[in-house]
Amino acid sequence: MFELFENELNKLESVLDQVKNTSLDFLENLRERPTYIVEQLAKSYDLADSGGGALASLEIFRQHYEKLMVASPGPRYWGFVTGGATPAAIAGDWLTAVYDQNTQSLQGAGDVSAIVEKETIRLLCQLLHLPDDFTGGFVTGATMSNFTGLAVARQWAGEQSGRDISREGTSGELVVMAATPHSSVIKSLAMLGIGSNNVLRIQVLDGREAMDLADFEQKLIDNQDRPIIVSCSAGTVNTVDFDDIKAIVALKKKHKFWLHIDAAFGGFAACVASQRHLLEGWEQADSITIDCHKWMNVPYDSAVALVRKEHSRLQVSTFQNSNAPYLGDPSENFSYLNFLPENSRRFRALPAWFSLTAYGRNGFEWIVQNSIDRAREFENYIESSGHFELLAPVRLNVVCFRLKTGTERMCVFLDQLNRRGKVFMTPTLLSGEPAMRAAFVNYRTEKEDILIAIREMEEVMQAL
Ligand SMILES: *Cc1c(COP(=O)(O)O)cnc(C)c1O
Repeated sequence: MFELFENELNKLESVLDQVKNTSLDFLENLRERPTYIVEQLAKSYDLADSGGGALASLEIFRQHYEKLMVASPGPRYWGFVTGGATPAAIAGDWLTAVYDQNTQSLQGAGDVSAIVEKETIRLLCQLLHLPDDFTGGFVTGATMSNFTGLAVARQWAGEQSGRDISREGTSGELVVMAATPHSSVIKSLAMLGIGSNNVLRIQVLDGREAMDLADFEQKLIDNQDRPIIVSCSAGTVNTVDFDDIKAIVALKKKHKFWLHIDAAFGGFAACVASQRHLLEGWEQADSITIDCHKWMNVPYDSAVALVRKEHSRLQVSTFQNSNAPYLGDPSENFSYLNFLPENSRRFRALPAWFSLTAYGRNGFEWIVQNSIDRAREFENYIESSGHFELLAPVRLNVVCFRLKTGTERMCVFLDQLNRRGKVFMTPTLLSGEPAMRAAFVNYRTEKEDILIAIREMEEVMQAL
């Protein structure tokens, strides 16, 4: 064996010990670590002929890059929709690399990882109060989950006019409708050849991001000669608005359409009894997107695509890996290879499996309620502050607000606030108007963190 590999395998324990120490060092100091790094990378390295081994690389990384890692899994990283990683999730993620399974078939591949993946989906559906009506699989994020759901929707739409789009391609005969789609839905339409311009925008209700049902029904009637795909939002990123799923599902009885629900983070509202009504009827969807690396606090690279079992044949004709027509019942000889975009796949379910079994219903109810409580506290500050104003009522876990004294000052304010490295927020556009948002997603965020952020904001305002 090449000497370096032989050496490493002989001292595996010390390699893994050092990695453990590095991990502890990061995680135990997360609270103090900056949420923003001003310093840029100083230097890049050319590829060496002889490497120094794993520990030497760890040393180089620690010296040059580690200090540039931001506290994005920490309690005051409120930009985008950023979850953290619970201890069980980290354990599962480490072991995913160690076990290094290629998770595909339920039978015949010689490993059980696909069975554990199915089991994880079953647990997740139980957590979210979803029936056993969906085929689920792990993908890298909600973008790929939206892609997967919309890809099967596209296949369904083709079939309505006797065409097999996965083979023949699209020719613009279908229509996609949405009110406030996430950017990744639009991106998915681009990747699917439907075209990102081809979204028929449903009007929103006054002061809301949720669809106007009267306009929606009119658009259904106007387009009844074409297959219709509806992408609805269960939690928009700016104001966490939900389309009225119950009413949309009721319209399915009168009109034919594919219903895709982007519940990337909003799906976790199902964990809390007082919020569950927001998702009422979602079990009737044709496909659903759930992100695990947001509110579930699993490390990045984890989302689930759910597609109704009755569409398994369509799902396989969309994603089957062989060019031969699919033979037989797709639920027999099940292989993720034929159900999802990727072929080789890591054992991506394991961090979620660890989390679900480690924390149970109560753990996730606590995480979601904790985020809602923190958002309320921050909302109270914004409302009582002379400097800021709320741009929307806080529905769940995101506070969308602006500086009263104008956009230009707001940009300066946000830049200065972020550069101080104690709290991180991101700018956004709400109905075309610049705004800021604070998203509460991380299980580590405590009341104390809200107070720290408020103090920071007040200090920045004083100096502005
Ligand atoms: C984050 C998000 C996405 C995209 O998810 P990624 O995990 O970043 O791919 C899609 N939809 C919604 C509502 C989101 O919040």
